[in-house]
Amino acid sequence: MYIMVINCGSSSLKFQLISFPEEAAIAKGLIERIGQDIGAQFTLSVNGKGFKNKPIDASDHTKAVTAALSALTTGECAVLESKDEIKGFGHRVVHGGEKFSAPVIIDDEVIKGIEECNELAPLHNPANLTGIEACMKALPGVPNVAVFDTAFHQTMPPKAFHYALPYKFYEEDHIRRYGFHGTSHKYVTKTFAKLINKPLEEVNVVTVHLGNGSSLACVKNGKCVDTSMGLTPLAGVIMGTRCGDIDPALVVYLMKKEGMSPEEVDTLMNKKSGLLGFSGVSSDMRDIQEAADQNDKQSVLILEMWAYGIAKYINAYAGTLPKTDAVIFTAGIGENSPGLRKIICDNCAGLGIKLSENNDNVRGETGCVSSADSRIPVYVIPTNEELQIAQGTAELLTLK
Ligand code: ADP
Repeated sequence: MYIMVINCGSSSLKFQLISFPEEAAIAKGLIERIGQDIGAQFTLSVNGKGFKNKPIDASDHTKAVTAALSALTTGECAVLESKDEIKGFGHRVVHGGEKFSAPVIIDDEVIKGIEECNELAPLHNPANLTGIEACMKALPGVPNVAVFDTAFHQTMPPKAFHYALPYKFYEEDHIRRYGFHGTSHKYVTKTFAKLINKPLEEVNVVTVHLGNGSSLACVKNGKCVDTSMGLTPLAGVIMGTRCGDIDPALVVYLMKKEGMSPEEVDTLMNKKSGLLGFSGVSSDMRDIQEAADQNDKQSVLILEMWAYGIAKYINAYAGTLPKTDAVIFTAGIGENSPGLRKIICDNCAGLGIKLSENNDNVRGETGCVSSADSRIPVYVIPTNEELQIAQGTAELLTLK
């Protein structure tokens, strides 16, 4: 049987078809430019077969889901005999607010709950809902499950999630730290527990998700107790285009000094800052590394700032745990760049972290990259958010 994992954007639909009990990704697809005049495009990969940017008729998300289902059941990429083999849809939903701390089967009440979180994630939640409604229409009767990016972080204690603003802003506007990438932090924590054969409830780790967007989580006894992102995914460490933590007074300063509007400051900090803004080179870490190798001054400096900022979080989180079982690197940069893992760990001298020669060999695979005498072990564990969503869906539908 199969679970179809859906990650829906305002004009895109990413999906994976995952088989159970094998937990294998059978098909991966992306439909872009949904509803745009230029016409939708479909990219699909199934067992080495597939197509790229094929023009399709998808003027809305329901048509896009229908096109995906039909490509999986008929034609050269067919892997299903019938749509009935799909036993559930698992949807990535960005914001679950304080309402959702675990996956839920979607009904009218849940849809209302997700809508209530729209103001906390205005770009993402409405799009996620569009995907949910599209799947409900395309395959009525098949259950839909919502898996929230924020859910894993709902175990944070009040001392970690509150901001020191007047309390009414929390009570009335729900302003607090929520955190994101929860599905990834949960997946690598769970995978680590299995790897070292320890019950999840006894695992203490610092998880370091470094992709275009990056965040860290402090996990105590298998539960998240702190994370670097905040009310929004702008907070925390330096990212591809996001500035991460800054003096909050800077927002007002820029508005006054530069005459910038709230929208302009928002765009500046979310889309034009970080690696891209400081270096002026690119938001892609590989380009920054290349420019730094050519001695581009700002690229050299932003790499140092980036690594130092991440290390500060690792030091702080490990410092609050009674004993840290591991620091776990994951996502594009964390999994693939031994050099950057090394620079980060070099900034964690006080923790007694020592990387081994194996660090240079581990790229995109699971492995221990610290030496035997490292006071805290360091691991690389590739993340798999789609599988985590599929597992959460299958468990909830008691299909596993
Ligand atoms: P997203 O947040 O979009 O899911 P990913 O987890 O795919 O991002 O990570 C993308 C980032 O990973 C990019 O900055 C890319 O440059 C970086 N990356 C991928 N491979 C490498 C590598 N070998 N060395 C350094 N950075 C890498």
